[in-house]
Amino acid sequence: MIGSGFNSPPANREDQRRCSVPKETYNKKVTDKTCCMHAEQRAIMDALRNNPAKLPGSMMYVARLDGEGHQERLLGKPYCTLCSKMALDAGIGEFALLCEDGVRVYDTAEYNKLSFQYSG
Ligand SMILES: [Zn+2]
Repeated sequence: MIGSGFNSPPANREDQRRCSVPKETYNKKVTDKTCCMHAEQRAIMDALRNNPAKLPGSMMYVARLDGEGHQERLLGKPYCTLCSKMALDAGIGEFALLCEDGVRVYDTAEYNKLSFQYSG
């Protein structure tokens, strides 16, 4: 593992938590309507800090785990363009998602494209 991450408000500051704010209340110019830093973003930043030379061509593994490391939910189609753009920009080569039908592996450029095509 060259980096890891988890979801929580930026800098783990509870005064920044806005999970309960309805997303429709944000102006359309607000491009990120989610509350928390995403685990993928944190894993990329962690790897950039600690293992930058190993990042190009690496594989991002994504699974939803509870606080004790147990599988919480399975993943579906790619949809997060924040993480897909950041991963592509950082040089990550592939995304591996733990889904209902097993592990799905995507080339990161394809993952980014699919994220922008997401329709629910
Ligand atoms: Zn994300």
